[in-house]
Amino acid sequence: MQLISAPKQLFQKRSLIKNITLSILVPIYNESEMLTTFHHEVCKVAASLPDENIELLYVNDGSTDDSWSLLESLKSDIVNIERINLSRNFGKEAAMTAGLDLVKGESVILLDADLQDPPSLIPQMLAKWREGFDVVNMKRTERLGESRFKTASAHIYYRLLAALSDVPIEKDVGDFRLLSRRVIDHIKKLPERNRYMKGIMAWPGFKQTNLEFERPERVAGETKWSFLQLVKLGLSGITSFSVKPLKIATWLGASISMGAFLYSVFVMFKTLILGDPVAGYPSMMIVQLWLGGVQLIAIGVLGEYVGRIFVESKGRPVYLVMDSHSTKAKHQEADHG
Ligand code: UDP
Ligand code: MG
Repeated sequence: MQLISAPKQLFQKRSLIKNITLSILVPIYNESEMLTTFHHEVCKVAASLPDENIELLYVNDGSTDDSWSLLESLKSDIVNIERINLSRNFGKEAAMTAGLDLVKGESVILLDADLQDPPSLIPQMLAKWREGFDVVNMKRTERLGESRFKTASAHIYYRLLAALSDVPIEKDVGDFRLLSRRVIDHIKKLPERNRYMKGIMAWPGFKQTNLEFERPERVAGETKWSFLQLVKLGLSGITSFSVKPLKIATWLGASISMGAFLYSVFVMFKTLILGDPVAGYPSMMIVQLWLGGVQLIAIGVLGEYVGRIFVESKGRPVYLVMDSHSTKAKHQEADHG
């Protein structure tokens, strides 16, 4: 299936560019409905960038539909296509980690396969990179086609994360962004198993800029995240990039103890000096239950961190690759053969 054909001059120009200048990284999980349209869109944008040598890397994250066989059948005159097939579904964070480990470009752009991250913005992102920025964050001004609840909870979450995190994490920026080679190389050295990519990609710092865009609806198929998975990812973000919840537990404990001490002085005064008998089963129960709740939450917070230490200490790989497959763009085939 030859999706896009390019003029001869384009092949000649591209074959003069030796290095891959841009890698486009796309995690795929059960996207067979979307893949052909997505691929076509990306190739169209690539055709409008004659000065770039582009690699398109698809990471199949253990899809259970026919996404992998579809990926193997994709062709392009314009871009080199690389595909890797993970041995099972490891999750989007692991799929992006695998992709960043393998991309060869001097820059990388991470894209979702559902066209919610519009490929048409690639030229603008590249222009920023050419200006000298290492990270181009794509900030969502609107989220079209998402429920009010999801939009509102995302809004609150991004602010909470920014307030708690020890690393400056840009608000309303998803995984859609451009990273320069030096940032990719630093990210590759981070050994952690808890891969909260929005934090990991923000961690190196370097020269950052933001571009704003309206996030469109999914073109086809359904979101792969359940509400519970989003909550888990959210918690993972906070616990991977902040120890503030532990400090909050300490401060809460200290202030409650202080309050309890002052209250006990007041009760002693009332009983011994004013001769007022201590009454109040209901108030005692409320205090006990409330304190029990606070204690359990604090233990739960501690447990979150201990669980993370447990995962890190096992040192298992973040992903496993089962197959890979690459197809050179036509101009490169001509060069080599
Ligand atoms: N994805 C993945 N592994 C997963 C879940 C999702 O690689 O376990 C990919 C998915 O195929 C898509 C991208 O991550 O390319 C974003 O997924 P989705 O559109 O479901 O997320 P949303 O836009 O709803 O946050
Ligand atoms: Mg999506």
